[in-house]
Amino acid sequence: THFSEFLLPDALMRGLADAGYTTPTPVQAQVIPLAMEGLDLLVSAATGSGKTAAFLLPIMQRFIEGPRHDGGTRALILVPTRELARQIHDHFMRLGRYTRLTCGVITGGASKAHQIATLRKDPEILVATPGRLLEFLETGQADLSDLEFLVLDEADRMLDMGLAGDVLAIIRYSRPERQSLLFSATLKQRGLNRIIAHLLRDPRRVDI
Ligand code: AMP
Repeated sequence: THFSEFLLPDALMRGLADAGYTTPTPVQAQVIPLAMEGLDLLVSAATGSGKTAAFLLPIMQRFIEGPRHDGGTRALILVPTRELARQIHDHFMRLGRYTRLTCGVITGGASKAHQIATLRKDPEILVATPGRLLEFLETGQADLSDLEFLVLDEADRMLDMGLAGDVLAIIRYSRPERQSLLFSATLKQRGLNRIIAHLLRDPRRVDI
């Protein structure tokens, strides 16, 4: 396979070329077409598998082809750590540099005033750790009522860190008609079934 088979917008093909990506990794080859069909996915994939582009490309494709009508977050990527949030944001900046899409980062341990300013700019895509995002949802400073995509990245690590309750609360704030993707190194993790039941509808399973 080659990225051209996914019929991605030109702006994304240029971002991929700049990044030096020519051939999709196995997780990308499987996830991208299914996600572009609008399906919910349950994916077991480790770090280093290329999973970030596997969820970023279908999200960016959808947003380029269907511009938004109102402000509001259209995609949320929930991650266990600040470092991972930063990496995903960097990945977005690389692949999305020829688009007009915007991406904000909301994590613990950083200035709240700065993050409130980020939220006011209404980025289409948010990358967040659960605790801090939940605080902003409770105060009404973040809003997921227009959400089109919800991605849980490294779900097993979020459970290890005791974040299941925060994740479930965030899911409850989100628009029920969203498309959801769950990525985890293992799908056997204790507590994962509860998250799956609240997040995914008729998910396709992808095992790498
Ligand atoms: P990830 O698993 O998403 O963290 O990606 C792991 C590493 O692989 C990152 O450094 C990516 O930049 C790189 N990568 C992802 N997809 C591709 C690809 N299709 N071709 C070459 N490198 C890639």
